[in-house]
Amino acid sequence: MQTGEKAVVTITGIAAGGDGVGRIHGAVVFVPGTCRGDVAEIQIEYVKSGCFYGRVLRFLEASKHHRSDFCDACGTCGGCNFAHMDYEEQRIVKRQIVADAIERIGGFHDIEVAETLAAPRPERYRNKMVFPLGTDQQGRPVGGFYAPGSHDLIPLADCRQGDTAASAWLSEAVSFLREHHVSVYHEATRKGLARRLFVRLAEATHQAMVVLTINGDSLPHQEELINRLLAVKTDYRLTSVMLNIHKEANNLLLGSKNKLLYGKDYIEDILGGFSFRISAHSFYQVNSPQTERLYQTAIDLASLSGGETVLDLYCGIGTISLFAAKHAGRVIGVEVVPQAIENAKENAERNGVRNVEFLLGKAEDIAPELKKEKPSVVFLDPPRKGADKKALEALVTMAPEKIVYISCNPATLARDLKFLCGEGYSLEKIIPVDMFPNTSHVECCVLLCRNEHASI
Ligand code: SAH
Repeated sequence: MQTGEKAVVTITGIAAGGDGVGRIHGAVVFVPGTCRGDVAEIQIEYVKSGCFYGRVLRFLEASKHHRSDFCDACGTCGGCNFAHMDYEEQRIVKRQIVADAIERIGGFHDIEVAETLAAPRPERYRNKMVFPLGTDQQGRPVGGFYAPGSHDLIPLADCRQGDTAASAWLSEAVSFLREHHVSVYHEATRKGLARRLFVRLAEATHQAMVVLTINGDSLPHQEELINRLLAVKTDYRLTSVMLNIHKEANNLLLGSKNKLLYGKDYIEDILGGFSFRISAHSFYQVNSPQTERLYQTAIDLASLSGGETVLDLYCGIGTISLFAAKHAGRVIGVEVVPQAIENAKENAERNGVRNVEFLLGKAEDIAPELKKEKPSVVFLDPPRKGADKKALEALVTMAPEKIVYISCNPATLARDLKFLCGEGYSLEKIIPVDMFPNTSHVECCVLLCRNEHASI
């Protein structure tokens, strides 16, 4: 088969990236926008490493798991690659994606993956929306999302992953840019001012932060932008407006410097009875109603007894640390982003939690020094690339009884579990948690216990 050729394919599974998987004469073919059970006529778009990548021309038999009412941009916008799939099927597929990674990458053959913990609200759940800005064919500013695998902007008036408040602020910001002929940043030329609109909402307090990232040091008519954003009627209260200075050619969402235009440079949210301050640069789980359940699942897996020393590596603003502190003797959190550590310290103080301390630095640099603290439980919640090998090696020499690994990437999770299980740990439980409905992303909570006879 060659690029451009047509074939009929039956979709039998879903790959980690969200594409449907079928076979043509024994070779694997990946087809986005499909469900298990689809029979589709496809066209081959390209061939890579012996696998075909195709596009649906028409469905000959559509799977019962299809839905067509989620979003008009389904298929063109790269935001939600499971928008076409009913929610129950998404849960089943995510469990399978985790099981496949654990088996194929981790080499575990007899591990039962638990059912995916469903999200309480499978739409309009995102508390953070980052809208890239671009221009339409007339050169006017627009905001929206990128098409799959590209930086072509798909303008969107509203996105069903986020609250309508986020869309309302985007629309107001775009009108402002148009009326004042503010230029929009173009990646190819690196010219133009406005780059992205970042909106963060605190569900429990209804506080909101809006940040405009710019390729420059100032914004013309900024007072008017502030007033216009403040005048937008939403269920949220705008308590923070900032400019973010982002002149680098990289893909990072935010540049390193913020300029406060209105209110505070953080918002406050409440989770598990604790109040959290969150800065623009700090990581905060995007699905608030499901976050408490994620943390509770992690805490339950640790079954803390009240007296132990606990390590929270990759602690962000100290959320898991505070949840764990209630049930432990002492908690030490480690995090690399200075604003997040600042938030974490304030959060502990403001909530009256005294048995926690926070250390700024890379987990891989700090973990080796923490062996002397003799932690018996370690929470490990790294970014998508997984834990650094040095951090894992330090964990092994520290030899905590339990490791609770919280992961947003089954592939790097499986890789790291393979390493830890080769070094004296056994994989006890793995629970997928759906933090990201309508996308193929899946979070997992994992319990590892140190084998009784493992040597250090
Ligand atoms: N446990 C937190 C944060 C998890 S996200 C929560 O649930 O909110 C992962 C965190 O790891 C981010 O805050 C990121 O800034 C931090 N991080 C990334 N690389 C790191 C490293 N090498 N060492 C320590 N922290 C790191």
